[in-house]
Amino acid sequence: MLTSQQLCDFLDASVTPFHAAQTMQSYFVSRGFEVLDEAQAWELKAGEGYVVVRNGSALIAFVMPHDTAQGWRILGAHTDSPALRLKPKPQSTKAGMVVWSAEVYGGVLLNPWFDRALGVAGRVSTLDAHGEVSHTLVRSESAVGIIPSLAIHLDPNANTNRTINAQKELSAVVGIEGSIEWERYVATLAQLPQGAQLLGHELYFYDTQKASTLGVEKSLITSARLDNLLSCFMGMHALVDARQEATMVVFNDHEEVGSDTFAGANGNFLTSVWERIVGDASMRSRAASQSLFVSTDNAHALHPNYIDVHEANHAPLLGRGMVLKHNANQNYSTNATSEAYLRQAALAANVPLQSYVVRSDMRCGSTIGPMTSARMGMASVDIGVPTWSMHSIRETAHFGDILAGYSLLRALLERTWKK
Ligand SMILES: [Zn+2]
Repeated sequence: MLTSQQLCDFLDASVTPFHAAQTMQSYFVSRGFEVLDEAQAWELKAGEGYVVVRNGSALIAFVMPHDTAQGWRILGAHTDSPALRLKPKPQSTKAGMVVWSAEVYGGVLLNPWFDRALGVAGRVSTLDAHGEVSHTLVRSESAVGIIPSLAIHLDPNANTNRTINAQKELSAVVGIEGSIEWERYVATLAQLPQGAQLLGHELYFYDTQKASTLGVEKSLITSARLDNLLSCFMGMHALVDARQEATMVVFNDHEEVGSDTFAGANGNFLTSVWERIVGDASMRSRAASQSLFVSTDNAHALHPNYIDVHEANHAPLLGRGMVLKHNANQNYSTNATSEAYLRQAALAANVPLQSYVVRSDMRCGSTIGPMTSARMGMASVDIGVPTWSMHSIRETAHFGDILAGYSLLRALLERTWKK
């Protein structure tokens, strides 16, 4: 039985997509999966589990079948979350303080980033004294910066009319002028040996407040990055625990910025791995036509303070099970046949399902479901855990729904999909 502590530990370890991929790769290896390198030839054995990481931030794991042209069950999610990414040369001094400036990554809900104790994490590429280049994951355990909000006395309209200029207002203060130098800070963070040089970095601010349970009965989970690490957590455990041939998880990076990258769902990571596993074009077509892709990404739960923003008949509640997402314009990939399959699996797993449709006068979000389904030539369904405050630095969900999601994904992996 998965525990909320396991989930909180997973969220706290996975502060960037790089850390998420590393956390998951370690878990798969600890459960007997073998690491594959895209640069090497692969010798795959039926019944064995394998894991592949691309760009350090996207991950595929699968259990090799005896007959690769059979129907596969593939779970998809994403490793990235909206965040603030440090600019290449972030440091300047203002008003006697050292500040580090950041770019907005994805659709960040900006207000909650003010007055948070922020750490720095990501990866750095360095050159040592012997001419060797290396790439290292780094993370400040303690908070190093804060984006202080303006006192209400100096902004009397803050509660009624507040806008945020991302260029002017999102620099984090890290100390008094003269006390800090950016390159030296990063060298210390990466524990660089004497004479090593920093060549490049992808560093993000992250909230040092840990994930935790919440509520009188402690049934809620509150944390950064629930979208979409919840789905990675459920999918990772479901794949390992089901341990069925012809099952796979794909966790892409860059979903929050459109997926058009080599680690994103619109790149060739999945199709490339799929070609190497399944075989020739005819076998891949046979496999795809009998396979199901399950795109798992958080769904907007009905918020007690903002009832009106939901469609009255399709307003998912926290603690009432997983959400099945529909959209006539195919922003979600669910259709009647994939829904039927999902409902059968939900019945088998005893998991309640709720339906979500966006209000017809509002814009609908999307997931990696439709594009992966199109690229793979595979039927697909979109589901997710009901969640509040998506894209905030602190999101909230119900742990019961996460257990339900795990059970549903596991049931999906343990069945075969018939069109
Ligand atoms: Zn998402």
